[in-house]
Amino acid sequence: MASIDLWQRRWEEERTARLEAEKRLERKASELFEANEQLRTLNEQLKRKINERAEALRDSELRYRQLIESASDIIYRLDENGLLTYVNPIGLEKFGYNPEESMGRLFVDFIHPEHKEEVISFYNQVRETQQERSYFEFKAIAGNGEELWLGQNLQLIFSNGPERKILEYIAVARDITARRAAERELQTTQLRLSSLITNLHAGVLVEDQNRHIVLVNQNFCNLFDPSLRPNQLVGLHFSQFIEKYQHFFAGESTFTSRIEALISQKEPVINETVEMVDGRYLERNYIPIFSAGAYLGHLWQYTDVTDRNQSEALIRRSEEKYRGIIENMELGLLEVDNEDRITKVYDRFCKMVGYEASELLGKKAAALFMPPNYLDLMDMQHQKRQQGESSTYEVPMRKKNGDTIWVLISGAPIFDEEGKVEGSIGMHYDITYRKQLEDDLALAKQVAEASQEAEKQFLANMSHEIRTPLNAIVGMANLLYDTSPNPQQLEYLDILKVSSNFLLSLISDLLDMAKIEAGRVEVNSRPFDLLGTLRTMQKTFQLKVEGEGRPVSVEFESNSCPEGMVLGDEMLLTQILLNLLGNADKFTERGAFGLRVREVERRGESTLLEFQVYDSGKGIPEEKLDLIFQKFQQVNDSSRQKHQGTGLGLAIVKQLILLQGGEIKVQSRLRQGTTFTFTLPYRLLHEPARSTQKTDVSLKTNGQGTLEGYRILVVEDNLLNQKYISTLLSKWKVNFQLAKDGREAVEMAQKKAYQLILMDIQMPIMNGYESTIAIRSTSNPNQQTPIVALTASAMLDQRNMALTSGMNDFLSKPFTPTQLEEKLKEFLHYD
Ligand code: ADP
Repeated sequence: MASIDLWQRRWEEERTARLEAEKRLERKASELFEANEQLRTLNEQLKRKINERAEALRDSELRYRQLIESASDIIYRLDENGLLTYVNPIGLEKFGYNPEESMGRLFVDFIHPEHKEEVISFYNQVRETQQERSYFEFKAIAGNGEELWLGQNLQLIFSNGPERKILEYIAVARDITARRAAERELQTTQLRLSSLITNLHAGVLVEDQNRHIVLVNQNFCNLFDPSLRPNQLVGLHFSQFIEKYQHFFAGESTFTSRIEALISQKEPVINETVEMVDGRYLERNYIPIFSAGAYLGHLWQYTDVTDRNQSEALIRRSEEKYRGIIENMELGLLEVDNEDRITKVYDRFCKMVGYEASELLGKKAAALFMPPNYLDLMDMQHQKRQQGESSTYEVPMRKKNGDTIWVLISGAPIFDEEGKVEGSIGMHYDITYRKQLEDDLALAKQVAEASQEAEKQFLANMSHEIRTPLNAIVGMANLLYDTSPNPQQLEYLDILKVSSNFLLSLISDLLDMAKIEAGRVEVNSRPFDLLGTLRTMQKTFQLKVEGEGRPVSVEFESNSCPEGMVLGDEMLLTQILLNLLGNADKFTERGAFGLRVREVERRGESTLLEFQVYDSGKGIPEEKLDLIFQKFQQVNDSSRQKHQGTGLGLAIVKQLILLQGGEIKVQSRLRQGTTFTFTLPYRLLHEPARSTQKTDVSLKTNGQGTLEGYRILVVEDNLLNQKYISTLLSKWKVNFQLAKDGREAVEMAQKKAYQLILMDIQMPIMNGYESTIAIRSTSNPNQQTPIVALTASAMLDQRNMALTSGMNDFLSKPFTPTQLEEKLKEFLHYD
């Protein structure tokens, strides 16, 4: 039993234990369940929380990203090696790159070359010092090559742990290009301004609102003390400056109080003149400085105007002086604007025109003073002024009382400060008196011209009127010799001949001289055979001397004289030689006289010939040599009886030589002889000497031929001359006919062929020229017949006209029977 009990008990015990264990287990299970439940709830809660956290994180990242992406600043990230890992859109946009181009590239590649080094050293420094945040400005280069100024805030990101390695760089940068430009602009402006002020000719001082000197230039210092420097004044209170320097100004206290007044009024005041104690004058400008309505200080500007003041005073004085002069010069001054309205009028002008100044101001000048037909001229003058031109002109002006005065106006434009014409000023000078004189002068000139014309006419008439009857007298006297006069009559005849010849030569010389003095002798250059002319001269005189049976030989020498035709005035040369050889002949009783010619100069075609007319006559006293070329000078009065002359010959000769561009001189020894040497220029024609009308003199003078039977037409209106010529021609048995005027001559020339026509010039109905022209230009038997003019006038131009009208030669009236005979023989080839 015990064992059962024991077992029982044990069983009981075991069962109880089991039950208890079961209960415990049950409890545990429920506890476990409960715990599990709690765990699940917790888990769920945890999961929920985690989810919530993750969501919040996502939200915040999104927000940040949006923030970064939409930021107006440029944001970029660099890895620890400086390679770009991120650039925000605005950064990409600013740089003009796309992400593929920029990502992974070195950041320094985008930096402006100028700043590369700086930027690299900045990053190195940041890395070394591990400075978490820093700021730096630099220039980058955008994709399009443009420069971009960036202000960059750099943040370093480090690894956790004790090592603190730099993981990356995050930069927030701002485009500061515009700011930089503005800054630069400001700097430049400031620099310009301060250098402007520093270099200004004027002295400048700027005070701030608290009256501290902030800027001053050297010129300002120089006004007071050249050793003073701007930096000694900058920073001082202005009152300190005043204290030290006010004694420089005349009337110190006034100066100071004026300064105070200006500063308190704060109104700009310019061009005030202040006097300094040393006599200088300064011009002062006061300019207050305001910005956006706030008073910031003020600027003083001082300029030394002593010189200007002095020159202004000088100008004033000289203006006064000139005004005085102008007023005294009787110049009336008037100023008008561009519309010709009078803007200023001076006293003298008012007096000139008889108006009061008040009556003139504002009136239109030209309309008031000028006669209507001068308005166009005034308009032209006005336009000149508008173009800035000055001019001088003469116009009549109406005075207030209706009188007209003539004025010389010197007009000039008036310019404004910008150089634009704002009107004109006219100086009026009363020339009424001068105009009157001019008119009188013009009238006098007309009268003089008319009387000159009359004189010319008178000369021509004299020539004609005196010579024609004289011609007849000489001619008749010659004829009388043929009427077997008795000795008494012969003596009278000789006197008549000598006297009338003298009278003729006197009249010829007087007329020649008158013509020379009236400037009416012209040089008419034509081709002629110079040597032929000279030889003729010599032979003429030789024949004369031989005829008179004097023991005198007439010589001719032409050493280097060019042969052939020359261009020059043959007639003037003949006249000169006739005179000189005539004198030589006259004053040489024995021995020789003659003519030498040589060339003294040759230039191209021009030749200068020297002629010498010499004689072995009585000579001229030395003291008289200067006189002989003067009019009416005869050397020896006692010789007058023997040698008649007018005393005009040499005077005429000299004038004729001068007229042709030559000169004459004389050498003489008493009782040994005289030599006249003269030069004349000619032009060489390089043509052999033509046989001109003046053919070899030997032909005319050998006296072998006869004029008998030649057909000659004599055209002459003057009965005396008709008679003279007819008598001579009848004597030589010439077959001649008479025409009493030019018209009749033309008619007769139509009907019959003549061998020569002697043609008077001055004739009624048709004169000699007209008649000749008619004969030459119509077909008739005498178209080629030689025509010799009988020029009753000594007028050279008549002779020239004779040649131009077609005549072949001329014979000057009065002519001797020999002269006529020679002329006839010259043209009638009778032998
Ligand atoms: P006139 O008609 O009186 O000869 P000229 O003018 O020809 O006038 O000469 C003036 C004077 O010069 C002559 O009167 C004469 O006294 C002097 N005279 C001119 N030529 C000669 C000369 N060859 N020999 C001497 N005296 C001369």
